[in-house]
Amino acid sequence: MEEFVAKCQHCGNETVQFVLHHEVKEEFGYDNAGNPHSYIDFLCFAVCKTCNNYSFFSIVDGNEGNEFSLYPLEKSIHVSIPKIVSKAYTEALKVKKVSPTAFLLLIRKTLEVICKHQNAKGKSLKEKIEYLHKEKGMPELILSVANSTRSLGNLSAHASDFEWTNEDAELIDDLCQILIEYVYIIPDKLEKLSKRMEDKMK
Ligand SMILES: [Zn+2]
Repeated sequence: MEEFVAKCQHCGNETVQFVLHHEVKEEFGYDNAGNPHSYIDFLCFAVCKTCNNYSFFSIVDGNEGNEFSLYPLEKSIHVSIPKIVSKAYTEALKVKKVSPTAFLLLIRKTLEVICKHQNAKGKSLKEKIEYLHKEKGMPELILSVANSTRSLGNLSAHASDFEWTNEDAELIDDLCQILIEYVYIIPDKLEKLSKRMEDKMK
């Protein structure tokens, strides 16, 4: 493989990555159902043809479309996140490096999708987030995370002369991840843990 198309984590473009060096390694892992299986890991050190920055990719079985950027580390979507939420969040991640303003708008949309999925009641997004806090026991700190994310999304929509940077986008992304972790990932992990405990006690 001399080159492949992948999303560059430096410039955010879906673009040609020219392979400078690669190693092939047989690995063992687990599929989504928890069954062990082996696969071939293509480890590629590549340079982006758009921005000339270097990346390190792992490509499962060497199939294009199966690549994952190890450096810079690409954020992966946890299996417990509902499709509708992961779709909205992935749309946002796609534009993060290209346009921080568009990213913030799509993160606001992701918040709306989370509220909808959680059946939050209220006329505005602010009210819906408040509902999650009051009725679903979302802690005060997570409420602040949701509200900060919402306010910045609002600013992006209304203050067009405001210049957003990649650092702002990263900060908001971190907060959004914390929110998603609280609402979906932690409950999922706790459930898995209690199931394992139950199985062991049988
Ligand atoms: Zn690039």
